[in-house]
Amino acid sequence: MSVQENYNHIQSEIKKHVSESELTSIPRVIAVTKYVTIERAKEAYDVGIRDFGENRIEGFRDKKAALPDDVTMHFIGSLQSRKVKEVINEIDYLHALDRESLAKEISKRATHTIKCFVQVNVSEEQSKHGLTLEEVIPFIQQLGHYDHIQVVGLMTMAPYTDDEAQLKDIFKQLKLKRDDVQALNLDYAPCTELSMGMSNDYAIATEMGATYVRIGTSLVGKEE
Ligand SMILES: *Cc1c(COP(=O)(O)O)cnc(C)c1O
Repeated sequence: MSVQENYNHIQSEIKKHVSESELTSIPRVIAVTKYVTIERAKEAYDVGIRDFGENRIEGFRDKKAALPDDVTMHFIGSLQSRKVKEVINEIDYLHALDRESLAKEISKRATHTIKCFVQVNVSEEQSKHGLTLEEVIPFIQQLGHYDHIQVVGLMTMAPYTDDEAQLKDIFKQLKLKRDDVQALNLDYAPCTELSMGMSNDYAIATEMGATYVRIGTSLVGKEE
């Protein structure tokens, strides 16, 4: 399938789910290109996508260098503190802020404000990174000590399941936590965004208020 066909399908699904709920805006689609070539990423650019996500430094660099300058680059993977200096100033949005040591390193190395999502492990799966829901507010309060960090929102990865009720519950809990953070009115943490939903669950995430969906396999595909 071409990226265009996949994108048309995704956009129509998103629009359908937005209109069936009481939402007023549609989420931005981030093309996750970690499984595919530069050529395939360019195909996504050519259909009009301007947000790209990668989870490793090398892939991030390669795609950023190859794509035109008007793209927004999202780093969606966990970032080791010792690697921060190599990549932080290339990042527009970091989706995986999950510990204070990382915040500290960012504030030391960044030369501009980095828009960050705090990663939350809502389902508390062992295999996933992120804070528990209870840890989110104390963590964000601590971030006031660090420069160059703006908490634009919360991010989660849901379990791989087709249990819609479970997925809805997870996304809803993230949204409620987002609202709680927003209510704190912290100048460095406007926390208006929700980065949630992947190939398997973007429609449900949209319905639950995602403002960014991160889609790899069903948009650009997956090369083995
Ligand atoms: C790989 C990845 C995605 C995209 O996954 P697909 O299931 O291929 O859509 C989204 N978010 C994160 C954090 C990822 O690592």
